[in-house]
Amino acid sequence: MPFDHARLLEQVAQIQQRISQAAQRSHRDPASVRLIAVTKTHPMLRINAVLAAGIHDLGENRVQEAEEKIALQTPEALAQTRWHLIGHLQRNKARRAAKLFSLIHSIDSVKLAEILNRIVDEEASVIPQPLPILLQVNVSGERSKDGFELAGGVHNSAWLDFVGEVRAIAELPLIDLRGLMTIAPYSDDVEGVVRPCFRALREVRDQLEQRLDRPLSELSMGMSGDFEVAIEEGSTIVRVGTALFGAR
Ligand SMILES: *Cc1c(COP(=O)(O)O)cnc(C)c1O
Repeated sequence: MPFDHARLLEQVAQIQQRISQAAQRSHRDPASVRLIAVTKTHPMLRINAVLAAGIHDLGENRVQEAEEKIALQTPEALAQTRWHLIGHLQRNKARRAAKLFSLIHSIDSVKLAEILNRIVDEEASVIPQPLPILLQVNVSGERSKDGFELAGGVHNSAWLDFVGEVRAIAELPLIDLRGLMTIAPYSDDVEGVVRPCFRALREVRDQLEQRLDRPLSELSMGMSGDFEVAIEEGSTIVRVGTALFGAR
């Protein structure tokens, strides 16, 4: 598809308006929802255009692809970009990821968090301390999804074990646990499938805050097909690709 700059600007404005309306419907401040433009597979031309449109949070799901794009950014553009890792992180790429991303959304084990904690210690001159992370939680039960397995959220029989794992991560001194991330199933059944998934993540977050006695303010949930429902259920970060750029 040829790149249409004017159309991208229209899409940005339209998504921002839909975010505002969803926030207002649920009596929330629109400024409490951050839009991440998911740029995976898209070229620099489009990335530069969304930055110029005022969106400074960009999401990639692979370390390598983000690295290549970051290398192509001017220092001025890089200084105003916050790169987010939203895809699965392999342990052997943790060091590179910690150096590149403002926020890693996809931490899925205590082990991975411990590895990052050690890396932040070793790389104190190049990685900010503490390193902000989110835990990816699979509350839907779909087997294809990454993350801590917690189908049904707080009602899962592994709930207390999960709380123990989150506590262990929260206690790592060089890691800043900011909240949770999830991916809802692709489904037309919004009320039966999608909304309950977002609601379950929020419930997990609320219970964790009580048990750990600390805030976990970020909920990264909602993509092109379901970000309005996610906002109604408390999302603070929506990750939107297709609705901004068109199909990949
Ligand atoms: C690709 C991706 C998105 C964006 O998906 P769209 O449906 O294109 O908006 C969001 N989150 C994650 C984790 C992704 O991998």
